[in-house]
Amino acid sequence: MTAMGTGREKQMAAGIKKNQVIEIEITDFTREGEGIGRFEGIPFFVKDAVIGDLVRAGVTKVKKNYGYARIIEILRSSPLRVEPRCPVARQCGGCRIQQLDYSAQLDFKKNQVVSCLKRIGGFNDAENLIEEVCGMQEPWHYRNKGQYPVGYDKEGNPVAGFYAGRTHSIIPNTDCPIQREENRRILEIILDHMDRYHIPAYDEKTGKGLLRHIFIRSGFGTGQIMTCLVINGRRGDVAGLPQLIQRLSDISGMTSIIINTNTRQGNRILGDVCETVWGTDDIEDCIGEIRYRIGPLSFYQVNPVQTRVLYEKVLDYASLTGKETVWDLYCGIGTISLFLAREAEYVYGVEIVPQAVENARCNAQINGIDNAVFYQGKAEEVVPREYERSGNRPDLIVVDPPRKGCDRVLLNTMLAAVPARIVYVSCDPGTLARDLKILCERDYRLEKVAVVDQFCHSIHTETVALLNRVEPK
Ligand code: SAH
Repeated sequence: MTAMGTGREKQMAAGIKKNQVIEIEITDFTREGEGIGRFEGIPFFVKDAVIGDLVRAGVTKVKKNYGYARIIEILRSSPLRVEPRCPVARQCGGCRIQQLDYSAQLDFKKNQVVSCLKRIGGFNDAENLIEEVCGMQEPWHYRNKGQYPVGYDKEGNPVAGFYAGRTHSIIPNTDCPIQREENRRILEIILDHMDRYHIPAYDEKTGKGLLRHIFIRSGFGTGQIMTCLVINGRRGDVAGLPQLIQRLSDISGMTSIIINTNTRQGNRILGDVCETVWGTDDIEDCIGEIRYRIGPLSFYQVNPVQTRVLYEKVLDYASLTGKETVWDLYCGIGTISLFLAREAEYVYGVEIVPQAVENARCNAQINGIDNAVFYQGKAEEVVPREYERSGNRPDLIVVDPPRKGCDRVLLNTMLAAVPARIVYVSCDPGTLARDLKILCERDYRLEKVAVVDQFCHSIHTETVALLNRVEPK
């Protein structure tokens, strides 16, 4: 919604002007979690407003057919509105719907999925296909990964926190309520060390300075912690590194301290080169009975409690009997592959990041699983090639692509391979709906869909969909 109308039209909607104060009742949400209300028939997008709020708002931008406004005062508070637990929830770009009651957040996410399935996928009965929305009992301190940009406050003190919405200005916060509480101590030690040893924070504009990000990952099942300093330089550039290591390694659970070098300008957080300066190269976690080894460059689901719910759902939709050949595409460190391998004949995983594939192979080994094999490369290249070469047909295909969804070439190979079932795990309802439409044009039927809330208080939505093969139309 927010990208609507990029032109520079100066025309004002119905004579409404910038800075004008208007009264609006909020009746809907955008996909970005902003409130929508109408004033003189024109929709206004109001950040932090909740369906049911009546607000006095200042107009910040007017386009021909819509506008933006900022809350000045909440005249009547919606019953769905709650006090955010985080004092910087409004400024921070992370939790965009913390002001919304948790059960209403789950409705918001369900509605996202239903609306995408209808609008983009053409599934008119989408409401009836959603069998479950799985929320968390305690939706706080759930993240196992924090990536904190480092900079300075107005007084010139080093700070770490999160980017404000849509900008890269840093909102200092070492005590984020969706992150692990231990992170605070780690961040404070590093900031204090920067101060004492005059280590400069990186400046995106000039490309100068050293410390860019602090990346912390924890294994909830094992208590192991990895701290990774992302720097614009090499290990030798970090003044007083032995002293810093000493202090960090004293923290209970610290298992791995890594220096990651990223000297490229741009938005990518991690560079390609990692050097372990203390402890092990990876940390371990377990989900259910399976133990996973995870390196700093490998993808790992961020909400371990809900990951278990998600994988159980995948297993449930997979309906394995022990005889199946399974493809797990976009497999990361082999998490889903190994979950399924215990109940299938053979699992083939495909993943693009070489370090993740290495983790996957090692994970199979440490769990004594010998019926899973992993390929490195782009799914849209590896899968057609291997399918052509071997002619091996899968009984089940699981895909779990990044937000951009599956490549068309891959979808064609999936259709050609005619598995009895496809389980599609998605972190973007829009591309999910687009891909399901292609898969259901001929040979597949969308059977059921579950929403698993992996990203409480953020606008992101995780979905699992089951497709069954039907006789070609
Ligand atoms: N199923 C895994 C990982 C899902 S995240 C889990 O639950 O942990 C998506 C994964 O797809 C990431 O590991 C990413 O590195 C990988 N990926 C991205 N593009 C890819 C492509 N074109 N081919 C194969 N893997 C890709």
